[in-house]
Amino acid sequence: MPPNESANLQRQFDVLLDHLPAGVVVHGPDGRILSANRRAKVLLGHSVEELIGAESSQVVWSLVRADNTVMPEPEYPVNQVLSTGDPVSDLVVGVPATPPGPVRWLICNAYPERGRDGRIERVVVCFTDCTKLKLAEHRAQQSEERLRLVLRGSTDASWDYDLRNGEVHYSERWWEMLGYRVGDLPIDAHTWQKVLHPDDFRRVTGFLHDLLGGTTDSYSVEFRMVHRDGHAVPILSRGFILRDEDGLPLRISGTNTDLTERKQVEQRIHELAYFDHLTGLPNRRFLAEELDKVLARSERSGQFGAVLFLDLDNFKLLNDTMGHDIGDLLLRQVALRLKLALRHSDQLARLGGDEFVVVFEDLGTTLEDAIAEANHVVDKILEVLDQPYHLDGRLFVSTTSIGVTLFEGMGADVDTLLKQADLAMYRAKADGRHIARFFDPGMQAAANRQSALETGLRDGLARHEFVLYCQPQFDTHGRLVGAEVLVRWRRDSGVLVAPGDFIGLAESSGLILPLGRQVLEESCRALARWAGDRALGKLKLAVNVSVQQLRDPEFPDEVARILARSGAPAGQLFLELTESIFADDKQDLAERMHLLCGQGLRFSLDDFGTGYSSLAYLKQFPLTALKIDRSFVHDVHVDPSAGPIVKAIIALAQQLKLEIVAEGVEHEAQRTFLARNGCSALQGYLLGAPMPIAEFESLYSATGIGHA
Ligand code: C2E
Ligand code: CA
Ligand code: CA
Repeated sequence: MPPNESANLQRQFDVLLDHLPAGVVVHGPDGRILSANRRAKVLLGHSVEELIGAESSQVVWSLVRADNTVMPEPEYPVNQVLSTGDPVSDLVVGVPATPPGPVRWLICNAYPERGRDGRIERVVVCFTDCTKLKLAEHRAQQSEERLRLVLRGSTDASWDYDLRNGEVHYSERWWEMLGYRVGDLPIDAHTWQKVLHPDDFRRVTGFLHDLLGGTTDSYSVEFRMVHRDGHAVPILSRGFILRDEDGLPLRISGTNTDLTERKQVEQRIHELAYFDHLTGLPNRRFLAEELDKVLARSERSGQFGAVLFLDLDNFKLLNDTMGHDIGDLLLRQVALRLKLALRHSDQLARLGGDEFVVVFEDLGTTLEDAIAEANHVVDKILEVLDQPYHLDGRLFVSTTSIGVTLFEGMGADVDTLLKQADLAMYRAKADGRHIARFFDPGMQAAANRQSALETGLRDGLARHEFVLYCQPQFDTHGRLVGAEVLVRWRRDSGVLVAPGDFIGLAESSGLILPLGRQVLEESCRALARWAGDRALGKLKLAVNVSVQQLRDPEFPDEVARILARSGAPAGQLFLELTESIFADDKQDLAERMHLLCGQGLRFSLDDFGTGYSSLAYLKQFPLTALKIDRSFVHDVHVDPSAGPIVKAIIALAQQLKLEIVAEGVEHEAQRTFLARNGCSALQGYLLGAPMPIAEFESLYSATGIGHA
């Protein structure tokens, strides 16, 4: 090769060398440096002038071995090659920085270049920076060391899983924690899964999956494992993952701590913090948190709720005269009675002393309903707490005063409500004790009226103050085809009360059951009485029945008894139900209705279109007739949209093969419209107002039984 060309090639080669990411240093046979590339200068921290002609020991003041000890000069890579003639590979060497700083770690390879005669002419040393790798390794070693230190003498269990070779290790304590001896189960990477609590399986395996794929190196997770004897052991598992440079996991190690004791302590702390130790009832703090949730639920449902503040009337006296132990006994019994008297969903708490709080939900969406319901629970609570107590062999009577406040939604906060109920309770004490008072004076007045009315209802039932009115029903040709029984309350003052003013209260107080029974008994007697009459003998008689009556499992038997006793023809009896049945457990009610149909009577659906109407529901119940609500009838001749609605209802009823009765017919125009569109029967002031049953009989009977 011509000298020119050779020099050219050498230059190109030097340029190439200079761009190499590895340091390259070429030594002569005497160990002195002949040339060095750019990376070598950077890594060794010297200029060309300093390097060329120097010996290794002059360039670096002392090399360090991988274990941080000083390397003697004969061990320097170039010297090793010169003395042994063999290459040196992958030797880790530390180069102290100039000026002094952290050691830079290099991986070195060195090899000899020999002449034709076999003598070493040059030694080439290549090296790359591995400082980062070395540091990572160091840190990993330290963590392992620390873990080992921590585990020595600890009650924690440890485990280790080497993902590279699949080796698994569970410490003796690991097995012992779960009631096993080492190796009682096959030891592999899945052993822990076999003792993982089934309910935590998905969560933990998911967590582990995320952890292995993620970038965090340490973790801490709680789960349960199953002890050999079957009980769950709460575990805190902590550990770390070793990863390679690309982040792939190499190894996972960790410790498991048995949390059983800690959990028990936590539970105890929770009990102390949230429960009253004497009665075991929730305390004020717990109540406040629960009440918060109750208010949020009320906000969503639009239902009223009530907070009752209870205070025993003579507790202090009992405590002072009979001692605290007896006082405690009473408090415990009061707590127990309350617990038994309340529903599971009601909240009960003891605030301290002889003060208890009860929170009720779902008292209805109107204030009237809520007041009636609240009155009820108050009566029930007063009654159960009034019963004599057996205290250490002695009988003791205790009465209670109750403050009530109602809430709807989140208008008032927890503190405000408790304060209101507390104030109301003081009112009750001031008004003579052993009673309940509402916080709101308006509510109090309403509550007073309602409880007076309820007492009146009860007395009225006993004194047979409820009388039946009858309203006639006609077909479209004007022939009398039936009648509806409508109850009135003739109070001893002579006032006639309309059902709208007492049916609601009768329902919420449960009095609807005896009232409904009276109405049905009397209606059946009328049907039996009419049997021989040419005009009345074929009439269908409709009796309104509250859904509460239908809910009563005794109802079918009761109806059967009434029919049998009166001798009424069941086939002429219609029970009118409102759409509120659709809000109930449909299956149950439908079955009960079928049972009743078996006795021959039939059902019609009252006030159709005002409630929960769903066409799908109609088919689920055994119905014979549909009554179009009077609000629709009222509008047929005034509101252009009412006509089509009524037509649609009629078409629907016809499709379902139901009879259609229109109620509230007051005008000729309504009658014409309804008759033309296929109504089966009409009822309303136009054709006949409700009248006392005797009047009805004398007006319509062919034989004049009404005068009998
Ligand atoms: P309802 O079953 O819809 O009864 C029809 C109501 O409409 C009756 O009111 C009746 O007097 C009234 N009415 C009749 N014709 C017309 C009319 O042309 N125009 C207008 N505007 N109204 C008319 P009442 O007697 O006051 O009864 C009210 C509700 O009380 C009844 O509504 C029914 O839901 C309930 N009710 C009545 N008696 C009983 C009963 O014995 N048991 C039960 N559970 N509820 C009853
Ligand atoms: Ca009715
Ligand atoms: Ca009706």
